Amino acid sequence: MSLLIRNVEVAGRPGLDVRIEAGRIVGIGSRLPRIANELDGQGGALIPGLCDHHIHLFALAARADSVALEGAGTAEEVMSRISAALATRPAGTWVRAIGYHETMAGDLGRNELDRLAPRHRLRIQHQTGSLWMLNSLALQSLGDGNCPEGLERDAKGRPTGRLWREDVWLRSRINAPPPPLSAIGRMLASFGVTAVTDASVTTDVGSAEKLAQAHRSGDLPQRLKLMSGGYLSEPDDGAFTVGPVKVLLDDHALPDFDDFLGRIARARGWGRSVAVHCVTSAELAFALAAFEAQGAQHGDRIEHGGMISSDAINSLQHLGLTVVTQSAFVRERGDRYVSGVDAADHGDLYRCASLLTAGVPVVGSSDAPYATPDPWIAIRTAVDRLTSTGAVLGPDERVSPDVALGMYLDDPAAPGSRRRRVEVGAPADLCLLRTPLREAIDSPDAELVRATLVEGEVVYG
Ligand SMILES: [Zn+2]
Repeated sequence: MSLLIRNVEVAGRPGLDVRIEAGRIVGIGSRLPRIANELDGQGGALIPGLCDHHIHLFALAARADSVALEGAGTAEEVMSRISAALATRPAGTWVRAIGYHETMAGDLGRNELDRLAPRHRLRIQHQTGSLWMLNSLALQSLGDGNCPEGLERDAKGRPTGRLWREDVWLRSRINAPPPPLSAIGRMLASFGVTAVTDASVTTDVGSAEKLAQAHRSGDLPQRLKLMSGGYLSEPDDGAFTVGPVKVLLDDHALPDFDDFLGRIARARGWGRSVAVHCVTSAELAFALAAFEAQGAQHGDRIEHGGMISSDAINSLQHLGLTVVTQSAFVRERGDRYVSGVDAADHGDLYRCASLLTAGVPVVGSSDAPYATPDPWIAIRTAVDRLTSTGAVLGPDERVSPDVALGMYLDDPAAPGSRRRRVEVGAPADLCLLRTPLREAIDSPDAELVRATLVEGEVVYG
């Protein structure tokens, strides 16, 4: 299938035509021969499609059917949002709420949730994704026997309703059908996103196959790279590629150091790099010590880098690690960081410019659903570092609009080291903007995306 995109700006040069054949760019020039299948670019910039380097697709899809608690300022607001959902659903059904934080209504366990939801099975996820809080009906329906390690118990051995990092077990017990992915495929396409790296540690052969099917059917048109905690192999048809082995760290329960080294070694045995979840400085120190001991290799990554001390920057640089950041957290959670983190450490939060200056590659991502999936909001925030109330968090970490956009343009196969370009021979994974690039990045907004193509096919616009 051939397509001619007429009158676009490519790499700063206006008035060019771009010819696509069999999913690749085969010609760029002025006044290329006309063909039947044309798209008028109206002078807008044609840039590589954006890559979200860290996202959780199933969790994002499940969000559509969940009570969102983000932004709830008080216990009353939490209760009223959940009560509104309970009122529309029959007794006994599952109700899922997400985005909770203890600053809203304190630590929650089964007793608090039973008062709120005596007749439904209620589960509430902490906004970090590391904790589920369940009421008694929910706990009962999971059955006893085979209780996992993450099920917290009180002094009498009774489950408190708090379940740490047991998503796989919880999912297998609830056994609900996976949420449809078509809506998020469309949404991501509307943002100009043509590739995603799913960073879920829980991805196994079964869930990977469901994502592959969604890609094959076109529900999820983006190119997929999947991380996983365990072994995963790539399908022959390329429906997804396999990314780094994901390792979660929780600073209140860091793994045994030698165990952790063993996991890195096992990843190497599978020919895979390693991506370590590091939000706190203790988690980062642990990960850096492990990479020092075991050796880091190309493609190893630090996910989030929520707190990076100036000392750690040197280690990141000499180990050659890439930091996968989420600038939107500055906007969505920055005000809480400002009040919850020592003023002396504010400069360590979600660093960006200082890493790049030190030669540490940084790429952009959403961590959706834990922050907005809209990359344009993250790009804007990387530039202004504004929290939702308008405070500036880490002014020295601001980057230019070009750099902020560039963090989404790297090849997902080599984030931090290979930038994709609109050039002959490149895959036609493209984002067509409504305006020239200079105008667009001066006020980044998803509204500026006019069309999105994956492998030469228009998937949006
Ligand atoms: Zn994540």
